[in-house]
Amino acid sequence: MAPPNESVVHGSSGAPRTAPGQAGASLAQAKDIPAVDRVLRLPRIATRVAQNGRTLVVAAVRAQMDAWRSAVRDGHLTTGGLTDEALSDAIEARVEHALRPRMRSVLNLTGTVIHTNLGRALLADSALHHLLAVMAGPNNLEYDLATGSRGDRDSVVEELLCTLTGAEAATVVNNNAAAVLLTIAALARDREVIVSRGELVEIGGAFRMPDVMASAGANMIEVGTTNRTHLHDYERAITERTALLMKVHTSNYAVQGFTSSVDEATLATLAHSRGLPVATDLGSGALVDLAQWGLPHEPTPQEMLRAGCDVVTFSGDKLLGGPQAGLIVGSKAAIGRIRKFPMKRALRMSKLPLAALEATLRLYLQPERLTQDLPTLRHLTRPPAQIEATAQILAPAFAQAVSPRFTVSVVALMSQIGSGSLPVDRLPSAGLRVAPAATLRKGIGRALDELATALRALPRPIIGRIADDTLCLDLRCVDDAEDVLVQLPDLRRLLLADAGNPNIA
Ligand SMILES: *Cc1c(COP(=O)(O)O)cnc(C)c1O
Repeated sequence: MAPPNESVVHGSSGAPRTAPGQAGASLAQAKDIPAVDRVLRLPRIATRVAQNGRTLVVAAVRAQMDAWRSAVRDGHLTTGGLTDEALSDAIEARVEHALRPRMRSVLNLTGTVIHTNLGRALLADSALHHLLAVMAGPNNLEYDLATGSRGDRDSVVEELLCTLTGAEAATVVNNNAAAVLLTIAALARDREVIVSRGELVEIGGAFRMPDVMASAGANMIEVGTTNRTHLHDYERAITERTALLMKVHTSNYAVQGFTSSVDEATLATLAHSRGLPVATDLGSGALVDLAQWGLPHEPTPQEMLRAGCDVVTFSGDKLLGGPQAGLIVGSKAAIGRIRKFPMKRALRMSKLPLAALEATLRLYLQPERLTQDLPTLRHLTRPPAQIEATAQILAPAFAQAVSPRFTVSVVALMSQIGSGSLPVDRLPSAGLRVAPAATLRKGIGRALDELATALRALPRPIIGRIADDTLCLDLRCVDDAEDVLVQLPDLRRLLLADAGNPNIA
């Protein structure tokens, strides 16, 4: 059994290490723990000091000393755990652990393409290259190269956004939640916003429309019922205190059956006849019609603007396929008020996502190339036959890596778009189904947990989905089967390390 002091230390593979050579050794005493200076003179540790500097290595040695002392107190440490090799292993492992980034690249095999917990949209190559090109040195973020005077960071993307959506003006903030908050605050602070009861959405991360209205300092007037709202409901609610009519695209749920809502064009006609603006929060907001690829249609900002909406807000890292951002497009008058509102400064976008957003939007100037160049659309439009071909390549090697404890089969699966978009629509996909072998049926749940844990402990963790007593690995988002194949020897090693556990076999 590994002593508890070792259980806090992990090697570069992420697998717990056991100190070697302990069997048969006698229990260590406090006097057996070497002095810091002696540890620092060990050849491997001296090399570490030269490579990583004294500060980090001494901190690792001190932390390890503490761990050894408490292990000695608990009678968990043998003298075999204090050989020069064991000392060097433990300290090197601590140094590596300290230097290893907590935010790491993973493989998303969950079947949810835009996965909020896994960082949502993946950046396109052109966006990554643009980031590298402009972030290493100074750039013209707020500097007008034509005139040599101060510029506005919005102008990096405003023209592009207007070209792509047909808007008169555009501005951008940190995320779409900020875009909605800013829009309501700028257009309706201390006044009333009319919204349908059927559209008071909550999305993940504690974003609830009524709370956003309150935070923005607006008074929310709910009209209609959960399933039905009519034009006269809005009409009757309009008073001299009204500042804004609001539509929210209910992207993450569907109300079905006896339902009725007022479309944007009808609402805009009413609003404009009373001199009021209409704002629509689209949430995901695709910039192109997804139906052209056989995907479910998602309303576009273009459609909303054509319908007469004065402001449309949507996310940068959902269907758009870019970085976290909140995009606000609309009329010159409305966008002008939003841009000048003081809260805008607190919600402004950083130069990093702004550069990535510009490069992503530029891809939309060549829409014919989008399904190749934009990872989100590439993954959403990947033909099931191509996904199955990847599954066929991986299945035999995967089966070998997890045998004999698990069996592997190629199966048809259903992927989801994710991130609050189109919850009722699922995309035919394919992948691997990994099931505990028939002889191990006793502890199925435990065996699956062990497998999922081993997959997460890989150098590039693989995140799957447990369903129906199996682990499903949806291969829609795997661009290169090699990313999985190269890790199979590590997977086998991790599973074998667990194999001694009688609860599993
Ligand atoms: C996702 C979403 C938001 C929030 O967007 P973020 O970019 O995550 O801040 C707001 N409204 C709707 C309808 C959404 O779907």
